Amino acid sequence: GGPGARVRAWAEIDLGALRANVAALRAKAPGAAFMAVVKADAYGHGMVPCARAALEAGAQWLGVATPDEALALRAAGVGGRVLCWLWTPGGPWRECVEADVEVTVSASWALTEVTAAARAAGRTARVQLKIDAGLGRNGAQPAEWPALTRAARAAERDGLIKVTGVWAHFSCADEPGHPAIDRELEVFRRAVAQAEDAGLTPEVRHIANSPGTLTLPESHFDLVRPGVAMYGISPVPQVGGPADFGLRPVMTLRARLASVKRVPGGHGVSYGHHYVTPGDTTLALVPVGYADGVPRHASSAGPVLVAGKWRTVAGRVAMDQFVVDLGGDAAVAGDEAVLFGPGDAGEPTAEDWARACGTIAYEIVTRIGPRVPRVYV
Ligand code: PLP
Repeated sequence: GGPGARVRAWAEIDLGALRANVAALRAKAPGAAFMAVVKADAYGHGMVPCARAALEAGAQWLGVATPDEALALRAAGVGGRVLCWLWTPGGPWRECVEADVEVTVSASWALTEVTAAARAAGRTARVQLKIDAGLGRNGAQPAEWPALTRAARAAERDGLIKVTGVWAHFSCADEPGHPAIDRELEVFRRAVAQAEDAGLTPEVRHIANSPGTLTLPESHFDLVRPGVAMYGISPVPQVGGPADFGLRPVMTLRARLASVKRVPGGHGVSYGHHYVTPGDTTLALVPVGYADGVPRHASSAGPVLVAGKWRTVAGRVAMDQFVVDLGGDAAVAGDEAVLFGPGDAGEPTAEDWARACGTIAYEIVTRIGPRVPRVYV
């Protein structure tokens, strides 16, 4: 199968699984609207196809980090409500207003810039206000919040903006029982009440990421905002795998062996000879490397399904390739290797790679590079 013999490696993206994951997540938060988080090229899965699939499955909103991501969705003709949240001064506020992209404001400088853009465009900008409930990244500090909400209300009266939402982001929702969870919910509830006291009437109040959506019903408010779970990765692997939450991994990373050859014992493998063949054996070359997003930390550690068995990366991952030792097993150039996938055809999962590399599965899928074509199935 796959995309034709000339493609050496590809990421198969199962949009049916993505749609089913959206349905499963919506069922966990039946009263809430659904924002599909598709930033960072949909965590490496391809932003536009994943955004369309999520909308088909009932998402009303799309969430991205940068204004450029939001504008790219609109340029591709993607509908739905779109919210972005990571700004620097002088950003493309006017383009966002004109493209009906909702922008997040966390500070008075941003409110000043967006109101100026709205005035210039002759349109009302849709704005969401963000409170720092405890994560310590963006978001207004609680001490600045009353002034920010009052200023936003004044801009509403001038017809320059409409505050459509108030939101925050959790710091520790992936650690069940962490005391920061309740603390941040309390800060958020207070911020919502203060915004309403200032006369704002947000349509949506939201804080729940994937772990909030799956494990904290009290965090659902009007809208949930899951990312990683939509791609079928468990946000709380210590609690359960994807199947335990009714989710299925969306990405399968496949490659075709570029060479298979017999070598004698004592043969060094890859840069630095960190692997030396223990005896006569068969080496297979998998043509993906760190330029494709395979972590160099997977050297001597990453698992890969080749010729029916899990093998471990032999020695170092190089820029474009790595080697596995097949021992006495047979394979030929062109045979398929599966680095990770749902796991039910014997292949490792992104979570297995994360464990082998000392990272999280989010990073494993997100870092798969542009040289690897995405093939939608
Ligand atoms: N909301 C915001 C503001 C985010 O930055 C992210 C991603 O980190 C998400 C939601 C989705 O988080 P997760 O992938 O854990 O569901």
